[in-house]
Amino acid sequence: MNLQFLKSTGKISLVIFSFLIFTFCSQKKIEKETYCTTEDFVNMEKIDIHCHISVDRPDFMNEAIANNFRILTINTDAFEHPTIEEQQEFALKQIKEFPDDLSYLTAFSLKGWDSPEWQEKTLAYLENSFKNGAIGVKVWKNVGMVDKDENGNFIMIDNPKFDPIFDYIGKMGKTVCGHLGEPKNCWLPGDSMTVNNDKKYFAEHPEYHMYLHPEYPSYEAQIEARDNMLKKHPNLRFMGAHLGSLEWSVDELAKRFDMFPNMTVDMAARICHIEKQSQNDWQKVRDFFIKYQDRIIYGTDEGDYDGADADPAVMSEKVRTVWTRDWEFMTTDNEMSSWEVDGKFKGLKLPKEVIEKIYYKNAVKWFPGI
Ligand SMILES: [Zn+2]
Repeated sequence: MNLQFLKSTGKISLVIFSFLIFTFCSQKKIEKETYCTTEDFVNMEKIDIHCHISVDRPDFMNEAIANNFRILTINTDAFEHPTIEEQQEFALKQIKEFPDDLSYLTAFSLKGWDSPEWQEKTLAYLENSFKNGAIGVKVWKNVGMVDKDENGNFIMIDNPKFDPIFDYIGKMGKTVCGHLGEPKNCWLPGDSMTVNNDKKYFAEHPEYHMYLHPEYPSYEAQIEARDNMLKKHPNLRFMGAHLGSLEWSVDELAKRFDMFPNMTVDMAARICHIEKQSQNDWQKVRDFFIKYQDRIIYGTDEGDYDGADADPAVMSEKVRTVWTRDWEFMTTDNEMSSWEVDGKFKGLKLPKEVIEKIYYKNAVKWFPGI
């Protein structure tokens, strides 16, 4: 080895060393978190992944656009009226008026479940919805909690009769949104419930308060059926509505995320449960959001329908309040309070990068075509 060689290797090492120092420093710079400002609320493109618009009037969409939200409206096999067919009509009319800002999920009915034609009819209905532009399919808690087969057994979501339906949805590249089960509070006595909105709702609707109805499937049975279904369909993209009915524990949710790589969740109408958990361990909840930042999607369960506030101004005010309150919780560390949760709680102040995913990028990734 001559001296010249040693000198040049020395130089090269120096160059490499400087490069490493530079990379390390800029890496550190990137790691320094940036946060959203209040102005970002309007400036940032956002998506509300869980809404229900079942009217002709344009007010909900106008309010969404004014707040820089795009909307996913979700058909749900929940009511006699509007039926899923009527809900689809509303969705298609609204999309005609707001083609750049609105998409929809279709739903199928369990009517005629015991007939041999049920599967064929359901597949035909879905095929037609996909032709109309539906980007996915909603299944609701009527599966597991309302509808029974001819033998009087509750129809659970892991019933093999659903398998060809989910296979078809997957094959068509669509996403399933599943509201299966209810908040765990639904199975607890009123005074053990964790949030006030659940206490109020189940006091007013004892017919839905499962603690009073031990003859219905248990909370655990609902979650188990959903997990079984996901085990059978590992390639199906699945969004668990309402934090996947695991709203009470970020640990339980983390387990499912680790177990099912194609599962995501929306936060619709369950942010109060996150606020509640953050009172006990703020750091743990915040760490959860950062670790699983690709698996959580912002949604509210707001919407416009016959029977909503007749005055569009009141309806608009209500949804705007929800959007801005949630934004405060997610983007600031303000001390906050709400009627739903006893005591004060602190905002999560998530990094801007995470907010962009939860409010937009994840929706685009999990719902192609949105
Ligand atoms: Zn909903």
